[in-house]
Amino acid sequence: METQEQKDLIKNAIEQAKLNGILKYLPNGELTHAPFSLSPYAMPESVFEKMAELTVPFNELMIKVSRNTDFLIHHLEPIAAIDPFLKMLLKCRSKEINQNCQLLIQRNDFFIANVKHNDYKQNTTPTNEITEESVLRQVELNTVSASFPFLITRLYQLHKNLFEQNKLPKVIQNNPLDAVVDAFAHSVKNYGISDSVILVVVQSNEKNIFDQIGLQQHLWIKHNIATVRKTLVEIHKDGKLRQGHLVVDGKTVALTYFRAGYTPDDFPEEQAFKGRQLIEESSTIQVPDMGMQLSGMKKIQQVLTKKEVLADFVTEEISRRFLKTFAKMHTLDEIINTPEGEVSASEWLSNHADDYVLKPQREGGGNNYFGSDILKLIPTIKKEEQKAYIMMEKIQALPHSSIQIVNGQAETLNCISEIGRFGVCFAENGEIKNNLDAGYLVRTKARNVNEGGVSAGFACLNTITGFG
Ligand code: ADP
Ligand code: MG
Repeated sequence: METQEQKDLIKNAIEQAKLNGILKYLPNGELTHAPFSLSPYAMPESVFEKMAELTVPFNELMIKVSRNTDFLIHHLEPIAAIDPFLKMLLKCRSKEINQNCQLLIQRNDFFIANVKHNDYKQNTTPTNEITEESVLRQVELNTVSASFPFLITRLYQLHKNLFEQNKLPKVIQNNPLDAVVDAFAHSVKNYGISDSVILVVVQSNEKNIFDQIGLQQHLWIKHNIATVRKTLVEIHKDGKLRQGHLVVDGKTVALTYFRAGYTPDDFPEEQAFKGRQLIEESSTIQVPDMGMQLSGMKKIQQVLTKKEVLADFVTEEISRRFLKTFAKMHTLDEIINTPEGEVSASEWLSNHADDYVLKPQREGGGNNYFGSDILKLIPTIKKEEQKAYIMMEKIQALPHSSIQIVNGQAETLNCISEIGRFGVCFAENGEIKNNLDAGYLVRTKARNVNEGGVSAGFACLNTITGFG
């Protein structure tokens, strides 16, 4: 039962969320606040720092991988042979690199797990036992459409206000919004054409639109840079190449920011493919270019968990730090080492489905398989398709209690939190000019929910309170 004071706090927080643009559309078109938590995620400051320090080397890794075409083709082409979407993406890559400049805006997602408590079962009492011994486990690196820089910056401001009124604990400073728009402004200036614009590639029925137009508004207010929103099909229709520049509605596009183009749904017709190719063929700075987008594929994440592969891209010291954060990953057609000896990965998975997540080469949430769905899927996967699926050890994130506010309703739940670190990196001809950690995202969700994003209403945006 909530006290009157708690009820007032919840009501006031919802009103402030709406006032500050922390909004989303429901599937029926109704406007509501984006789901948010009123319980900042508590973690030791040392763990927070450790996570932040990984961003710069991970940015550098992704820039290097994105420029290594032979490496990407070697690992992705065999999958493209059975995956038309990946085949199409590979086809979009232009023969030569037309852009000297690369801007990477990525988000590296982690859970905090306690290896000693790896045998946690769903019915244990809710505790928050994060200690200095807890380990960081990478979920995945999002190199395309890393969302929430606007909404999370606004939520930080809301939680900070509530802290100043003694209603929440102190939260750790967070402002990915400024870092992202500053990086955009720097890139546009570097492009060097006056009166140029930023093209935002969008989905036609985007539910998370406020995160995008909030960022566009901030670009205008802070840097006087105009933006144009278009789908890939519209870009094909309204765009053209002029002396190598991408021109849309008569304006030169200095930078193209993808908030779409990572799912087959964004390519409903041939024109969308042509729109994507037009962008790739021009000199516009792409966030991300196709090399960067491909570097974020699950298959690439899986091969980079191998020490000998990682060694081609990073120093031994960095490799050691990265490897500590990686969960075990295999393709379904592998023979793997297990406590019961060498067995086929798919057979092992059939007997241990609850210990893994099965991932196809897709982005954007809702594509992965868990538990009994894995068991249903395995018999339907043909031998030649097995290499397209990655099985990843299930990370047992440490649970904690949290007040979740979804569509006007507050509920206290046993939750887990996924923490993303935004990374911003600018490179010219592969040489890194600017590389920084740009803040964090926390998504807190009920412990028994496998997936589910913020826009889908399952996970709540959150901030971090540090201790220790
Ligand atoms: P997508 O690219 O579709 O977002 P992710 O790999 O980020 O796919 O997975 C989506 C969600 O599934 C994550 O946000 C996380 O909640 C859950 N998830 C993914 N991998 C794991 C894992 N190894 N252990 C536990 N949960 C996971
Ligand atoms: Mg992803």
